[in-house]
Amino acid sequence: MSQKTPITVAYGDGIGPEIMSATLRVLEAAGAQLDIETIEIGEKVYLSGNTAGITDASWESLMRTKVFLKAPITTPFGGGYKSLNVTARKTLGLFANVRPCVSYSPYVFTRFPQMDVVIIRENEEDLYAGIEHRQTRQVYQCLKLITEPGSEKIIRYAFEYARNNRRKKVTCLIKDNIMKLTDGVFHRIFDRIAEEYPDIQADSMIIDIGTARLADTPEMFDVIVTENLYGDIISDVAAQISGSVGIGGSSNIGDKCAMFEAIHGSAPTIAGQDIANPSGLLLSSVMMLVHINQPKVASKIQNAWLRTLEEGIHTADIFKEGMSKQRVGTQGFADAVIARLGQLPEKMQPVQFAENVNRIDPTKWQLMYSTEKKQLMGVDIFLDWNDGHADKLGEMLEKITVDGLKLIVISNRGVKVYPNALPGIFCTDHWRCRFEATDRTAGISHQTVLDQLSRIQAIGLDFIKTEHLYYFDDERGYSLAQGQ
Ligand code: NAD
Repeated sequence: MSQKTPITVAYGDGIGPEIMSATLRVLEAAGAQLDIETIEIGEKVYLSGNTAGITDASWESLMRTKVFLKAPITTPFGGGYKSLNVTARKTLGLFANVRPCVSYSPYVFTRFPQMDVVIIRENEEDLYAGIEHRQTRQVYQCLKLITEPGSEKIIRYAFEYARNNRRKKVTCLIKDNIMKLTDGVFHRIFDRIAEEYPDIQADSMIIDIGTARLADTPEMFDVIVTENLYGDIISDVAAQISGSVGIGGSSNIGDKCAMFEAIHGSAPTIAGQDIANPSGLLLSSVMMLVHINQPKVASKIQNAWLRTLEEGIHTADIFKEGMSKQRVGTQGFADAVIARLGQLPEKMQPVQFAENVNRIDPTKWQLMYSTEKKQLMGVDIFLDWNDGHADKLGEMLEKITVDGLKLIVISNRGVKVYPNALPGIFCTDHWRCRFEATDRTAGISHQTVLDQLSRIQAIGLDFIKTEHLYYFDDERGYSLAQGQ
């Protein structure tokens, strides 16, 4: 084998240290060529006053090795502690979360013995950009950001993953019947990229029916690609029904760095008792070996692990009378896997990972940036107002509308309340007032927006935000208000 690959390892909290030492023993016995740097993250670091849970020296190691095998950590409650996982994803640019959800029936209980789904979740965008505001006394907002380059990266990654791993189908889950612009662009890019992969079947589904089908008939799915929030939810649904929550592994992949961890947490109540199942971290380390191009060792470990499972050597969490033969602890399970290195499973399908898969080749990103002409056509001005009926607000605004703009509609929580609203609509203190250009060919300037805001300020109204209404070539870049 060639030279050793440097990796950064964190033992984490709770059951972290014991499952990590079990995992590293298996890796070493299997002949993984690793040069391990250990860092401290998690509870101790948080409680020492570092709200990020990780020191600068640890970042330095991660930036250098670019490969992170991480045990679960405990995030203390309160105190402004930031989620280390979110920070690591953002700082290391880990845009893809990959979570295989596989049934190991009958050795691990599941009602879906044929399930073999990989969820590929976009990791950096969507509602997780963390841009939230309280805008009025009654109304809170979280911004959903979907970008063209971000969508292209994750979707292309999903198709490349499918091709490299001999998968047949990629399904895109979206909600573009409602979110026509954000989920619409994700869906459009999916359709366009799918054309470049004629060997892979592509289909798409609305997220709600997609989740229902996943929970009911997971065998119909192969690879799923989706946005951050949907992916967060469905990857837990998929792991749960596959029976593999306690044994699932995951990877977080970026252009330069990658992080590998079990999907479970630090399980503090069973820590230090040698009863935790190390399989989730072990299978994550198998994903890591494939990533750093040591596929033979990866296959050797996973096959020995499958063999151990089918021989009925089980930790307490999956032990079942009648099916299991021997109850082992964390280290005993690792010993059993080590003793079977070089053996293949007899009942389950052996794995054979290929060379050079799952490596990101940034030259493949085309990252198309749109070049359409962008023209300002109006502005949505949001007001915090709690002084009567919508008609009163409409009449006040009609009187001060500047030349070049027309008040088109006022809505409250997305429902039209002016002009000519249906009676009895419940209103909050958060009003969206849409002004559009009277001359659609000329559009408006930023000065027009400023003038309108000045007049609103002059009559004492509290404007809390603006959203500009753009056209991109001849396409409207904003949704119509309900009833508009
Ligand atoms: P958990 O996953 O730690 O535990 C859920 C249940 O599963 C518990 O009953 C636990 O005993 C069991 N369990 C988990 N892993 C197991 C294993 N390997 N073997 C046997 N049983 C196992 O989730 P939780 O209790 O919600 O969270 C505990 C702590 O973990 C919290 O501080 C949370 O913030 C943290 N957490 C960390 C990560 C991470 O670092 N990636 C992820 C999730 C939760």
